[in-house]
Amino acid sequence: MGTFELISKHGNHEQVVFCHDPSVGLKAIIAIHNTSLGPALGGTRMWNYKNEEEALVDVLRLSKGMTYKAAAAGLNLGGGKAVIIGDPKKDKSEGLFRAFGQFVNSLNGRYITAEDVGTNVTDMEHIFMETPWVTGIPKGFGGSGDPSPYTAHGVLMGIKAAAKEKFGTDSLKGLKVAVQGLGNVGSNLVKYLIEEGAKTVVADIDQGRVKMMHDQFGCEVSNPDAILTVECDIFAPCALGAVVNDNTITKLKTKVIAGGANNVLAEARHGDQLRELGILYTPDYVINAGGLMNVFVELEGYSPDRAFDKTRKVYDNCMKVFEIAKRDNIGTHVAADRLAEERITTIGRLKQRHPGKSSRAFSTLREVYNR
Ligand code: NAD
Repeated sequence: MGTFELISKHGNHEQVVFCHDPSVGLKAIIAIHNTSLGPALGGTRMWNYKNEEEALVDVLRLSKGMTYKAAAAGLNLGGGKAVIIGDPKKDKSEGLFRAFGQFVNSLNGRYITAEDVGTNVTDMEHIFMETPWVTGIPKGFGGSGDPSPYTAHGVLMGIKAAAKEKFGTDSLKGLKVAVQGLGNVGSNLVKYLIEEGAKTVVADIDQGRVKMMHDQFGCEVSNPDAILTVECDIFAPCALGAVVNDNTITKLKTKVIAGGANNVLAEARHGDQLRELGILYTPDYVINAGGLMNVFVELEGYSPDRAFDKTRKVYDNCMKVFEIAKRDNIGTHVAADRLAEERITTIGRLKQRHPGKSSRAFSTLREVYNR
């Protein structure tokens, strides 16, 4: 399939930039999907793609996902993403990331990058030497640091919204929550859940993490294979994607699914099936947007308190999704897309007619925050 055909097939992106600098071995693609709401923000993934077409399809798919995530989160951001073709264990160098930073800079703020799979804070520092259009830089440079506590707090807000929708109250006191995965997001979430008075049952393939949570909070422990089938009020996936699939869906013994993991549904049809089973699904990219909210605050001039406060919005966003699902008689996974699309259409049109404060905010970023 030709390049333009591929672009049309994967979401009609506004701009796709191929970045090539043989002197440092750089082959990268930046995809800007949609900037109706603001500049396109999304991380840079470094991956040993089999071929260039695989890299292109990945960046097109991921950048479109960012448009929906930012729109549903209520942020003045569009969707973009970048991929660098190469092995993150072998092919990294200062020159590579600085050359990439120059390409990002050439877009003059239409695309803002961040960390993703295969890239880290050091790589962002190198990009930052060439462009201000990067987030996730170290705290010393005005960055926001680890996003996980903010993601986890947003997830807690989403869980409370789901509880309100399903059980009529957003108090989690006495509810049993099964948490799969006790990494950066899961461990912070458990702490918040305990503070809310929830009963937790936890699992991780890393027994050290399980022991830590058990010793610290007295959590009930489950086998990693059994956590999906634990009888509970809320199942919070915080590890892998595709946990709701043909093999697991009929074995679930929960009333709600609400967690931090990306791509929880193996396929969209599993969202419809959850609805038929009476299990309330809280769409992944709506409930796990706290980390994105955190980097957005970095763009405004970072304040941890403001970032924390912003993640409370996840509650309202999830409630909106549940409302749309009822209004249009559709699954919540489809309702999330509809929430994003409605906002892009309404606010995007408004901004075209009267570019207001939000449109100007980023163009003055360099001057205001001296980045
Ligand atoms: P992490 O790598 O820190 O933690 C993942 C944990 O899951 C690890 O402790 C791992 O041992 C465990 N795990 C892996 N396979 C498992 C299995 N089969 N059963 C039980 N546990 C298993 O990752 P994280 O940053 O906490 O992210 C967790 C999820 O949330 C991922 O899907 C990620 O894409 C998503 N997410 C994270 C953020 C963030 O801010 N970190 C933001 C948005 C979405």
